[in-house]
Amino acid sequence: MRPRTKLQVRVADLSSQLPNIDNMMIDWAKDDCLNHIGYATKSRVICMECGQRFAPELVKRKRAVCPHCDTSLKIEQSRKRINKQTMFIGKAEICEEFQVIRSFELIAYYRAETKPCYYIREILQHWIKDDGNREVVARANNTGFNGWCGELEIRNKVIGSYYYNHNNDIYCERYHPASVYRPKYIRMGIDCKLRGMSFLTAANTIPHSPKAETLLKARRYELIDYFEDHRYKIDMYWPSIKICLRNKYRIKDVSMWFDYLELLDHYHKDLHNAHYVCPKKL
Ligand SMILES: [Zn+2]
Repeated sequence: MRPRTKLQVRVADLSSQLPNIDNMMIDWAKDDCLNHIGYATKSRVICMECGQRFAPELVKRKRAVCPHCDTSLKIEQSRKRINKQTMFIGKAEICEEFQVIRSFELIAYYRAETKPCYYIREILQHWIKDDGNREVVARANNTGFNGWCGELEIRNKVIGSYYYNHNNDIYCERYHPASVYRPKYIRMGIDCKLRGMSFLTAANTIPHSPKAETLLKARRYELIDYFEDHRYKIDMYWPSIKICLRNKYRIKDVSMWFDYLELLDHYHKDLHNAHYVCPKKL
């Protein structure tokens, strides 16, 4: 789409000057974001990080350190010899008056006897001003046809049809630790550890939702994850959630925990009592 407004012209110009950070993103993500897996049978383990084999005797409690490349591996019982991992990762930057969120698609191919191959491409950038005005620079998102195609250019902020419409947005699983945020967002509790919500959703939700802000500042990303699709559960069980926060109780499996609260409720147990709400063994 050709930039039309003054804001679009400025964003298109600044975007074209951003440095390429593909390699920086890969260098970080291959160690810190992707899963390091070893496939084990009774006779051998294949390290998918270096493609080499080693003896299954080195596996302890489903983990092992590869003697060839020193990578700490999660071991799965499988005859598989190839693997593919795909994820969205992001980096937050400040460029002039804009908060910029750069989103990348990362694909890693793993194969026995060889080193992994990594492919990355930048697919979407949010350019957001403190007054809320924003633009999206992205590739075209043709769902059903190979995902993203075309060049990075100014795109519609909202993609809509008769049946649905949504923000042209991507949920990044992880943000690069060198991400920088404008003070406005730091005050909301947003930083590179953000999970469970996209940056855009978090920035739009938090000013209107003290509950989201409380959870974000307490770094309860596992509960933030419930905000978009199961908000009613957060609202319904908010007193119990607050008890968890006060008792620093970590919920390992949130969906199971909500089911458990439902059960407590059914048997008329006290949902304000930490003894019930924060079970040692769920
Ligand atoms: Zn290895």
